[in-house]
Amino acid sequence: MVEETDLVVSDGRIGGEASGAVRVDCSGCLIIPGLCCAHHHLYSALARGMPGPARVPRDFLEILQQVWWPLDQALTLEDIGLSAMCGAVEAARCGTTTIVDHHASYSAIEGSLDAVAAGLERAGLRAALCFEVSDRHGPATATAALEENLRFNRSKSSPMLRAMMGAHASFTISPETMSSLTGEARDAGLPLHIHASEDELDERDSIARYKMRTLQRLRAEGAVEEGDLIAHGVHLDETDLVTLRASGAWAAHNPRSNLNNAVGYAPAAGFGERACLGTDGIDGDLFAETRSCYLQARAAGVPDAGGFALARLEASSSLAGALFSEPALGTLAPGAPADLVVLEYHSPTPVDSSSLAGHLLFGLTSAHVRDVMVQGRFVVKDRVHQLVDEQELASRCRAATPSLWERMAVARGAGPTPPGGL
Ligand SMILES: [Zn+2]
Repeated sequence: MVEETDLVVSDGRIGGEASGAVRVDCSGCLIIPGLCCAHHHLYSALARGMPGPARVPRDFLEILQQVWWPLDQALTLEDIGLSAMCGAVEAARCGTTTIVDHHASYSAIEGSLDAVAAGLERAGLRAALCFEVSDRHGPATATAALEENLRFNRSKSSPMLRAMMGAHASFTISPETMSSLTGEARDAGLPLHIHASEDELDERDSIARYKMRTLQRLRAEGAVEEGDLIAHGVHLDETDLVTLRASGAWAAHNPRSNLNNAVGYAPAAGFGERACLGTDGIDGDLFAETRSCYLQARAAGVPDAGGFALARLEASSSLAGALFSEPALGTLAPGAPADLVVLEYHSPTPVDSSSLAGHLLFGLTSAHVRDVMVQGRFVVKDRVHQLVDEQELASRCRAATPSLWERMAVARGAGPTPPGGL
């Protein structure tokens, strides 16, 4: 629905008394709720432009072994904080106000989620954080990663932060670790956040080792329950989709990442109402992700591909609402948290309720974001981040990057192999 109105914000929420309020002129602009990225990897922010491996990765496992696992091994706590702040500031400039992050840094585990949290707090965003538990470096580090999730959950103090239990993917998690992490997650009341069936290798591994498909293995271990979040689901079959829809779990569709990793097109139209949108670390731009979701759904013959893509964006906000126990998050309803985006959009055609979908799919981009407010506080105003000096941050990131990339090249030579020996 599009309407011309004044919007009052007080005490961090929409609504309240307008008298005495500071006025912000938004005439001619569109105001939409803040967006949520349902699956991100902020630790990848300093990977942009890095030198590739000597040989082009031949498949998804080689992409992990030669790019992302060496990067996560090379990160220091300082890199993690910078990377998170950089990724979060860029996301804020795109109108993203909540980030559901999936972190890994296997040479700096303890305290790493505090470093991510500090970066996000500086950027002024909401976030749900976790560390991806994996046995790819052996059981001791898997235990340390699990502990980091629990430690962060106990120690986080900001109302803008939530904790989840992170897990990498079925093919790098042993039965013992899977059982511990689901047990600990349930005891602590933490939803699980795990990659599932991103590449066919996850299915091959699960069938070879457990005689069942990935989603069934995860279910058998107590994962993919109500409120859990799986990412990708590219190779889920019809039976898996029925299981997923009945589970009450959320599923993050990451269309641009799936294209980039050439893992296939996810059957996201079968994920159900809880299918949301993630960027998988590419950036924090949900306008771009929604458009890719639409275009790929269109090419795949999904009926009403536009409505499908926009519903995924809305579901991402519902995920944020569920994580923060704020059902009205992602709406402009009176009483909803004031997470807002002001879009400066001089449309050549009328913008009204009947045409809004067309503008979202074909006109609006993150370049139209003028102001961003989170819980009633401007974090971006007139296209300038209000809490972080972006030039200074970029300069600090550029100074940290060469040594990070050097350590990454060393780690690449001694990369881990998954426990299944794939
Ligand atoms: Zn991911």
